[in-house]
Amino acid sequence: MKAMIIGAGMGGMSAAIALRQIGFETEVYERVTENKPVGAAISVWSNGVKCLNYLGLEAKTAAIGGIVNSMSYVDGHTGETMCRFSMQPLIDEVGQRPYPIARAELQSMLMEAYGLADINFGMKMVSVTDGAEQATATFTDGSTATADVIIGADGAASITREYILGAPVTRRYAGYVNFNGLVEVDEEIGPATEWTTYVGDGKRVSVMPVADGRFYFFFDVVEPAGAPYEKESAREVLRSHFGGWAPGVQKLIDTLDPTTTNRVEILDLDPFHTWTKGRVAVLGDAAHNTTPDIGQGGCSAMEDAIALQWAFTDHPDDVHAALAAYQGARTERAGELVLRARKRCDVTHAKDPVTTADWYQGLRSEDGSGIIRGIVGNIMGGPLTPVV
Ligand SMILES: Cc1cc2nc3c(=O)[nH]c(=O)nc-3n(C[C@H](O)[C@H](O)[C@H](O)COP(=O)(O)OP(=O)(O)OC[C@H]3O[C@@H](n4cnc5c(N)ncnc54)[C@H](O)[C@@H]3O)c2cc1C
Repeated sequence: MKAMIIGAGMGGMSAAIALRQIGFETEVYERVTENKPVGAAISVWSNGVKCLNYLGLEAKTAAIGGIVNSMSYVDGHTGETMCRFSMQPLIDEVGQRPYPIARAELQSMLMEAYGLADINFGMKMVSVTDGAEQATATFTDGSTATADVIIGADGAASITREYILGAPVTRRYAGYVNFNGLVEVDEEIGPATEWTTYVGDGKRVSVMPVADGRFYFFFDVVEPAGAPYEKESAREVLRSHFGGWAPGVQKLIDTLDPTTTNRVEILDLDPFHTWTKGRVAVLGDAAHNTTPDIGQGGCSAMEDAIALQWAFTDHPDDVHAALAAYQGARTERAGELVLRARKRCDVTHAKDPVTTADWYQGLRSEDGSGIIRGIVGNIMGGPLTPVV
């Protein structure tokens, strides 16, 4: 059986490794010419880490993962700690520590595990078609490639999705912009092994550790889509949004490197449940594009890869049956995570200011159990985190 994977992001690479694990011949096509991920880091929650472990990457993942021993919420204006609690109960409950990981390192780990030389870089797919015996992808240079199955892991603006659904879809602006990057760990901003989040006025500022003494940071700012932004002006823009906030936030703004700070307008997509057409299927953001508010988009892409492997293990000689099983295993779970993230997004970013004020108030009496319950609820339900 030969599978072609379009897109060498974390979803596509996980799928390629997973299918190779069960003896598939695989080909990966990626439009960019080198590994240059957009964005600084992600939190790989325990369900995602379990997928990476399953792909044989347990030690490597632990080596590039940041250690988060505790979480805290801080009043953005006063700097007063609203709540602080240990992550240990979460780790004990789900049986795996989560790891924040720099994107470039996560991406390199996956690509190297598969084999960098085996990835066809600089190959942008322009169309895909299903056929009775084979599916075919066509690339910008006019060349074509065929396989028994094509997995479109071509990201949030997927053209594979357009082919499967028969029309383009419009994504929804979630109402906020995320600035993110990496800085050296600085205890004036937050403790070295803590995920610290400053909140106020529907905005938030967060730091969490990744490997090698660095913090992954992000700022969420509520503003209309398409607001003018001059490249490398992150410091001035953030000063205007967070003037008067706590000293830790000011230190972070002073420390960050504007030339490597990313600005991302956050979009998502209503869940949809048709992920396959004949021998073609979508995976990762192509199938479920979420806001990052519960940190599950990439984890969900990794879960897709494991589910895809299991579907082909159960239906080794029948692509159509395997893809139907894959779709059946995944659309509900992935769609639920998209909707949970949307709900969390609205509370965090003050879509209804009264609800957000209540949330802030609740954080002041939080012992961690309520927040951990919510995170465990997101983690459980994937292929390697079944709800029993
Ligand atoms: C600000 C932000 C923070 C986030 N934080 C988290 C987090 O903490 N935890 C988490 O789990 N997730 C997080 N996510 C989500 C996560 O980044 C995505 O879910 C994840 O990257 C999806 O992986 P993917 O492989 O499906 O898509 P992508 O990573 O987008 O990869 C798609 C690949 O396909 C390639 N491609 C696209 N079109 C073509 C084509 N036509 N031909 C060939 N190649 C093509 C692209 O170049 C790219 O390499 C966050 C997202 C954002 C925006």
